Amino acid sequence: MAGTAYKIQEHKYDIVVVGAGGAGLRATMGLAATGLSTACITKVFPTRSHTVAAQGGISAALGNMGHDDWRFHFYDTVKGGDWLGDQDAIEYMCKHAPAAVIELEHYGVPFSRTDEGRIYQRPFGGMTTDFGKGVAQRTCAAADRTGHAILHTLYQQALKHDAQFFIEYFALDLIFDNEGACRGVMALDLNEGTLHLFRAHGVVIATGGYGRAYFSCTSAHTCTGDGGGLALRAGLALQDMEFVQFHPTGIYGAGCLITEGVRGEGGFLTNSKGERFMERYAPNAKDLASRDVVSRAMTIEIREGRGVGEHHDHIYLNLQHLGADTLHEKLPGISESARIFAGVDVTKQPIPVLPTVHYNMGGIPTNYHGEVVRKVGNDPDRIVEGLYSIGEAACVSVHGGNRLGSNSLLDLVVFGRAVAQRCAETIRPDTPHKPLPASACDEALTRLDRLRNAKGSLPTAQIRLNMQRTMQADAAVFRTEKTLQEGCVKMDAIFQSFDDVHVSDRSLVWNSDLIETYELNNLLYNAVATIHSAEQRHESRGAHAREDYPERDDVNWMKHTLVSVDANGKCSFDYRPVHSHTLTSDVEPVPPKKRVY
Ligand SMILES: Cc1cc2nc3c(=O)[nH]c(=O)nc-3n(C[C@H](O)[C@H](O)[C@H](O)COP(=O)(O)OP(=O)(O)OC[C@H]3O[C@@H](n4cnc5c(N)ncnc54)[C@H](O)[C@@H]3O)c2cc1C
Repeated sequence: MAGTAYKIQEHKYDIVVVGAGGAGLRATMGLAATGLSTACITKVFPTRSHTVAAQGGISAALGNMGHDDWRFHFYDTVKGGDWLGDQDAIEYMCKHAPAAVIELEHYGVPFSRTDEGRIYQRPFGGMTTDFGKGVAQRTCAAADRTGHAILHTLYQQALKHDAQFFIEYFALDLIFDNEGACRGVMALDLNEGTLHLFRAHGVVIATGGYGRAYFSCTSAHTCTGDGGGLALRAGLALQDMEFVQFHPTGIYGAGCLITEGVRGEGGFLTNSKGERFMERYAPNAKDLASRDVVSRAMTIEIREGRGVGEHHDHIYLNLQHLGADTLHEKLPGISESARIFAGVDVTKQPIPVLPTVHYNMGGIPTNYHGEVVRKVGNDPDRIVEGLYSIGEAACVSVHGGNRLGSNSLLDLVVFGRAVAQRCAETIRPDTPHKPLPASACDEALTRLDRLRNAKGSLPTAQIRLNMQRTMQADAAVFRTEKTLQEGCVKMDAIFQSFDDVHVSDRSLVWNSDLIETYELNNLLYNAVATIHSAEQRHESRGAHAREDYPERDDVNWMKHTLVSVDANGKCSFDYRPVHSHTLTSDVEPVPPKKRVY
């Protein structure tokens, strides 16, 4: 065995889930309910996972507030993703959405109600009826605390089904057998500083996104792309990493999110001339156009000198006209955030906002069962045995080039449920574990040793700041060959500077900078993958807006990017075809056309 002789405690389960956000908890609950012995490892307490911050709601064509159909939802999601989404997976998600939301209601999610007692639904950007003709009210909300309500409910359900939680355990690396099947994960107990090997027939990665690769983002400090790091270091490729969503309304200076639900309730954006400028950019949907469209419009207004504030560098979001009663009843959390983070009373003043990194469309490629896939020869969808991924860590791909608001919470519960079903079909409870090769843990232990003894000249925080500033400046809302190429050179150097990292506290517990260094290492893998993927995609699609290639190019680029990153940070590329077919004949595939709102 490599490195220092560590004492490793071994655990055996049928399946291990890494992550206890909405995706991880839905999977954990479903797996435990089917009788599989299930461990859920999480670096933060489950109800502190980032999902708790989701405000606006979860989409499903329930039709509680007017006419709706899951096929309209399907159409909107294909269009919202700018035809990069896999239409079989999108059909699966939209068709299962109403049942998934009703299921949540039955589990105990306290949704807001209509006067008739039905689940309340609000409009959200890009959500329409009749294939783009009307405005849909499709987003099911528990006031503006929907993620909080869902997360607490799913945690209670998982406990009810006797899932075993390993809380404040940090997953270090995946463990594979000689056939390349994933059979476990190495983790640290952050309270005791002990090392644990979780052996299983399968591992579900549900570790969330990597917003913290950027300087300004709406996501929690825990969103460090650990799952992407685990996969890349295991030699797997990530998919569509160039697609990073900027949310139009992060609070200026603080980055905290003001949900799109606010514009769904009638809020609107204005520039320094007081103009409702979205009427020019999206004459039909206006402030409720999809996020990439609104973010770009705001950026153009600021660039052309019509930004607000002393430096003309942001935009106003107006809610004053909605009245104190509506704000109090439907958007209480927003009023509080605006007061705390912008010093604004939303009943009297507009909120200063700016496009802010919000969501990662890219991630670990999977099929609609949540099974991780890799390209082998001519087979683009070869299953990696024993490895699954769901939620924001994954790229299934239902969001394509741009996610529609409220489709993420849906993705978590639909594919969390799907992966549990798949495991129940393929893994028999209490099957004996095959022996692991003697060297199975060597790489993980060598890395642990190396990082514990890293005595270079650069503090972890310095490398992280260099990365965040570079990503913010060079992989931004608008991209050009020049900024991307400069950014790639800078990011390559920053990746390599990790060899010179200095870890001052080598203890294995929470508050040591060793854990932050692990997280930084994961972020660096995600960051180089993102900026190099952006550089090589010569078109504009969804959230990826190239000024030098302003048009979408379906002939050359309607394909998923697969990026691998070696130990030196060098990226290599391959491609998978987009699934432009549907799963069944219940809905027609949507052929590509120009995306206008
Ligand atoms: C402010 C905000 C508001 C949003 N509002 C909405 C909304 O209204 N509707 C919507 O659909 N979407 C919304 N989104 C998006 C949505 O909230 C996220 O995409 C979603 O919650 C991600 O869930 P997840 O389960 O994939 O990951 P997370 O909730 O981020 O959970 C990740 C889990 O992985 C664990 N983990 C990570 N790394 C490790 C490791 N190395 N070892 C062990 N455990 C690990 C963490 O402890 C955590 O439990 C919002 C996003 C933001 C930023």
